[in-house]
Amino acid sequence: MDADYFKEKTSEIEERINRFMDDGLKLFIGSSFQTHSIPLLHIVTSISKEIPVYFIDTGFHFPETLIYRDQIAELFGIEVINTHSVVSKNLQCDADGNLYFASDPDHCCYLNKIQPLEPVLIAHDVWINGIRAEQSAHRKKMGLVIKGPFDTLRYHPVLHWTNKDIFYYRKLHNLPPHPLEEKGYLSIGCEPCTRKVDPSGDERAGRWFGMKKTECGLHTELVGNR
Ligand code: SF4
Repeated sequence: MDADYFKEKTSEIEERINRFMDDGLKLFIGSSFQTHSIPLLHIVTSISKEIPVYFIDTGFHFPETLIYRDQIAELFGIEVINTHSVVSKNLQCDADGNLYFASDPDHCCYLNKIQPLEPVLIAHDVWINGIRAEQSAHRKKMGLVIKGPFDTLRYHPVLHWTNKDIFYYRKLHNLPPHPLEEKGYLSIGCEPCTRKVDPSGDERAGRWFGMKKTECGLHTELVGNR
């Protein structure tokens, strides 16, 4: 996996992004600022610095994620726009006074991830995001370009990239890893809903551990027209 291998892959992405822009569509990229999100962010921001970069700041992220976000933004010379819930955390509690992530994580994800992204979707035409087929059975069923909510398109440029692709792209461009990766975290979301996993197992096994939940809703609810 050398520079030529990635040139072909990134050219396809560049062509499609240019086509979208030539058609007058407004694009944005959402990044979760995990190690495996960084190649796509690097590719897209190398194509155009005009495509806005959004980070869904739930207020529950590891401090290391926020530091990493800022480090990457500086390295790439980009500005990151943070979205926040309009519902303050003291109103995000169940009848027992516990924050929703403990008793109703779907509602917590709705308030802190899905709802804050809705105005961004309404203001744009194409949502570029970095889901990959090998991450889960659900993501495997997604297409490269599919309908999103609010008459948007979802574009998944690295849908068919493997973990090896991500690793070698990062190596080629010397892109730093998320600081928690070396501590055993493979898929890193909000702190209360993320734990370390066996590195030989499913990379997303540490998300919502012990719950039936496997997705936050961004890639299940925000699909198709709404
Ligand atoms: S991942 Fe957990 S803490 Fe983050 S928004 Fe969803 S339920 Fe809440």
